[in-house]
This record gives sequence, C-alpha cells and structure tokens, in this order.
Amino acid sequence: MAQFAALSNGTFVESVNAFKKYEKRLAFYDRRMARKVKFSANWRKAKANVSRLQRRIGNVRNDMLHKASTRISKNHAVVVMEDLRITNMTASAKGTVEQPGTNVRAKSGLNRRILDQGWGEFRRQLGYKLEWNGGALLLVDPRNTSRTCASCGHVSGENRQTQAAFRCVACNHAANADTNAAINILRRAGSARIACGDSPFGESMKQETQRVA
Ligand SMILES: [Zn+2]
Repeated sequence: MAQFAALSNGTFVESVNAFKKYEKRLAFYDRRMARKVKFSANWRKAKANVSRLQRRIGNVRNDMLHKASTRISKNHAVVVMEDLRITNMTASAKGTVEQPGTNVRAKSGLNRRILDQGWGEFRRQLGYKLEWNGGALLLVDPRNTSRTCASCGHVSGENRQTQAAFRCVACNHAANADTNAAINILRRAGSARIACGDSPFGESMKQETQRVA
C-alpha cells in the first residue's frame, strides 16, 4: 500500500491498510443509500452505516496521524512541509520534515481522498507538537520539487518516470520519487514561512535552517 508521507532521510510514514477495506465498504453503503427512498427506514439504516464507517475511518486515521506526528516532532526540531495552499490542493500532496534534516511528502493513490483529509490534520498536529518542544514547522512553495533532481538540480518532467520512480535524464540519479521531492523541499527551507502564528524564534529558526540546508 502507498505511504502516507516520504521523509527526506529516505524513510516513510506508512499508510494504514485498513483504509482500503473501509473505503470499499463505504462505497457500498453509499450506493445502497442512493438507491433507497430518501428518509425511508432503509435509507436511514444505510445512512447510519455510512456515518458509522466514516467515524471509524476517522478514528483509525487520527490514531495513525498522532503516532506519526508525535514521533517526528520528537526526533526533529524543525520540519519543512509543502504548502498545499500554493498548489491549490491539486497535485499529489508533499511536504518536508527537517532536523538537521528530514522532509515529508504525502502520497497520492487509491486512498487519496482519505489521505488528503489527513494531510491538513497532520500538518496541524506537527505544528503544535513541534511548538511544544520549542521547534517549528516551516511551509515552502512546492513548485517543481517533483521534477527537480536532488542530486544535480536538473529540472524536467521526464525525470519523473512513474508515480514512484525518479531518474534524472541529465545525471542518471535514481531515487524514490517522493524521497527525491522531499529532499528538494528541505532545501527550500531558507525561503519558508512559519506555519503557526508569529513565532518569536522565527529568525533563529531560519538561520538554523539555512545552516542545515
Ligand atoms: Zn540529476
């Protein structure tokens, strides 16, 4: 199954396999609901099933997000993520984590809808957990991070051969496509903005980030 996020150090936040199963069942009850007479007893029954499944999916997702955001915020002082508002939520989500150095990137895929909902919440959790620990979450413009070679800097759409595989047409550097993008996102930390309010340590964080990058 697809990863939820890729980090610049080559590791991943695994997605939850249960999503796929739940999503199938959700589609089943959705269809069933659509076929019933609205507000009839059977319609209400189907609607209750849909609501129950949605709650369960939400619980599983939140559990996964809390575990991942806690782990990452403990291991890193600064996290750099893609600013999805810049990309208008269209392209596959990506982001970055950083300490001296990690970076997170969301994955598109079958359970994209569920993951997309999770990405905003993941960002929120990472933001406040990093602040608790005296760190910061940085957001950067993700443009071209998928098409740029993290090894030589060459930018080309042809670098991205498949969803998962990156191979630079200039220098032949090969990597997981999301890991490659995560490294590029990390390198943009110098031009990042602080995600959570006016952090008093924005200045020093920026300096630290530049040093690291
Ligand atoms: Zn290259």
